[in-house]
Amino acid sequence: MADGFHADILAIAAHRDDVEQTCGGTLLKMAERGYRTAVLDLTQGEMGTRGSSDDRAREAAEAARILKVGWRQALDIPDGCVQNTYENRLKIARVIRQLRPRVLILPYWQARHPDHANVSPLGYEAAFLAGLSKLDLGAQPHRPFKIIYASLYADVRPTFVIDISAQFETRFAALMAYRSQYEDQATGSGLFPRQAEIRERIAAMAGYYGLLAGVRYAEPFVQKEVGLMEDLLTIPVQSI
Ligand SMILES: [Zn+2]
Repeated sequence: MADGFHADILAIAAHRDDVEQTCGGTLLKMAERGYRTAVLDLTQGEMGTRGSSDDRAREAAEAARILKVGWRQALDIPDGCVQNTYENRLKIARVIRQLRPRVLILPYWQARHPDHANVSPLGYEAAFLAGLSKLDLGAQPHRPFKIIYASLYADVRPTFVIDISAQFETRFAALMAYRSQYEDQATGSGLFPRQAEIRERIAAMAGYYGLLAGVRYAEPFVQKEVGLMEDLLTIPVQSI
């Protein structure tokens, strides 16, 4: 763990390759703007049908390099068993205190995979704990200013989208860095679509969210708070 690294933005996800699918373009775009980005994967991927957790670690590091992520680590929460326990909240709160992000990206709270859904309240409650001054975790208390939820795989209308038209190709390359998962192989070929099919699906999703805002490709997010505007003349996205 790189000592002293502070992040502007921290994305937390259940599995290695989750952020590449839901908010990788956004992380890359923010890095290109000069912000320091970080990714915390909660599990190490030992339950994956293909490849080992060591393969996953190498692939995640390569994907992070492609997305210009400044810091990436995985916790040791069991794959397939991500639960909102006090112990897990403390593990995440330590990382939040260490990295001191202003913005926290979590998965949306409804999902097909229980691990994904559970990260949402787990991350929120960890962020709360991280700010408690009397909780001794060996680092100064810190709470992110903003929590947003990556909602790509949720059937929900996003509060806003981030235009990733310029980042789409690189984000796809980051996902394909998970060669053990996405290269065409015989093992489990019923579960893993070929790369061209994956690309078509990912482009369709990004294209749909882009269309909602009048751009080519976008990633969707939900925020629980209302939006605050200063100037009616600079609100983006055409109405008519
Ligand atoms: Zn996942």
